[in-house]
Amino acid sequence: MKKLICFHCGEEWDKDFVYDDEPDSFTRTHGLIMRCPACDTHITPIKDEKLMEEAERLAIVVGPDIEVLMQHLEEVGLVNV
Ligand SMILES: [Zn+2]
Repeated sequence: MKKLICFHCGEEWDKDFVYDDEPDSFTRTHGLIMRCPACDTHITPIKDEKLMEEAERLAIVVGPDIEVLMQHLEEVGLVNV
């Protein structure tokens, strides 16, 4: 199962959980998580601003197609397989 990584705190989440189980608990641009339930307690922020900009751009361009987005995010290290 592939994991989406929260941009704010670095926590990993199952895609199905984010999309189907608790979608209201996350602030996200499609598959890109900006805030998650772990943000308040678990802080190891991703500080690479260039990477964040790139990932945000991708999320806006291909976001509705989650499989394509996850493939791109995997390439830049924002999805753990
Ligand atoms: Zn988080």
